[in-house]
Amino acid sequence: MTLPKNGWSKQEVVAAMTEMRGSDARWQDGRTFGMVYDAGPEAHEVVEAAAMLFLHDNALNTKAFPSLAKIQSDVVGIANGLLHAPEGAAGFMTSGGTESILMAVKAARERGRAERGITAPEMVVPISAHAAFHKAAYYFGLEIHTVPVREDYRADVDAMAAAINANTVLVVGSAPQYPQGVVDPIGELAALAAAAGANFHTDACMGGFVLPFMEMLGYELPLWDFRVEGVTSISADLHKLGYAPKGASLILHRSKELRRYQTFVFDGWLGGFYASPAMQGTRPALPMATAWAILHHLGEDGYKRLTATAVDTRKRMVDGIRAIDGVTVVGEPEAQLVAMCAAPGWEDRVDIFAVGDALQQRGWFHDRQLPPESLHSTVSAGNAPALDQYLADLRTCVADVAGIRVDDRSTSYATLE
Ligand SMILES: *Cc1c(COP(=O)(O)O)cnc(C)c1O
Repeated sequence: MTLPKNGWSKQEVVAAMTEMRGSDARWQDGRTFGMVYDAGPEAHEVVEAAAMLFLHDNALNTKAFPSLAKIQSDVVGIANGLLHAPEGAAGFMTSGGTESILMAVKAARERGRAERGITAPEMVVPISAHAAFHKAAYYFGLEIHTVPVREDYRADVDAMAAAINANTVLVVGSAPQYPQGVVDPIGELAALAAAAGANFHTDACMGGFVLPFMEMLGYELPLWDFRVEGVTSISADLHKLGYAPKGASLILHRSKELRRYQTFVFDGWLGGFYASPAMQGTRPALPMATAWAILHHLGEDGYKRLTATAVDTRKRMVDGIRAIDGVTVVGEPEAQLVAMCAAPGWEDRVDIFAVGDALQQRGWFHDRQLPPESLHSTVSAGNAPALDQYLADLRTCVADVAGIRVDDRSTSYATLE
């Protein structure tokens, strides 16, 4: 492909791009268990209107765009309220969970250096913690200790304690963790971090806009947010079950002093004073604006309704999977995530990756993961209408692939090109 010599008309551009999308995941039909989370046509209209308003704007300098300073402050304020942040808590909007996590790690490293003189910083994470923590350790030069999880896939508190030492600047837990959807014992983990003088980060990229509404709906959950004393920072993705379009997440710190370790300021450049909250320079306004729009459009009522739908759908999915001979669910997921594997004793007859391929041929999209070999689902409200058809297709696929093992054992949560 080369740059066209003569520019295309709008019609030509749109036609070509519409055709390109022909074999993309069909999230609009509720057939994609991850990546896109659909709050319905009315919500689309609202975020599309907000996107058009802010499409061209730039949050690099909020003196030029004061509306974006207000948008960020409002969104952080809303999240602080939901996550029971104390007075004085402070945060930023970021481009996604990965950037939020990068900033949590960088802030922990800086705090360790400034307050404890640590020059060889280390962090301790359960093996269930998101790959972004490893990316952060690599980018920012921390040694990372990866600790096995318990049989129920939650972080093993004793094993985590054993990995903490005088150089530990950060301990991590997830609410819930991505692979099996269980919530780590945040209270006990955060106490370990506090005792070591280290930061504790709760990764609520998945749960940040689910667990608070589950609690309002009467679900009993162990505490995982700022009500837990040792929690110093939390990441929560607006562009997951916050139902915002992509490019929006939050990093929240317990205090402005802790947040200071995240930011970068520089005053030795011919271009002028440079203050930067996170990784980006130029910051698109669109994801910030659409996140503000969806929060205000849905409101507490809307999130409670969508959360009830997502969690009920996850329960129906878990029960439906367990009712099919040959497959089962890994662990006991607590919110909106499900990992499906071959049932114990069926491993020779049921290859879960063959089941996944068969489902994909019928238009259902899951990520593969291991160990254990399983198909991952993030269930959101948009999957609800399709779930009965899914379970019927799953039953057929499990029967159809009985005894078939596929050669391809690869997994791909994220790809390069
Ligand atoms: C999605 C996710 C992340 C990373 O978020 P991105 O927005 O994909 O960068 C981190 N942690 C958990 C638990 C997640 O589910």
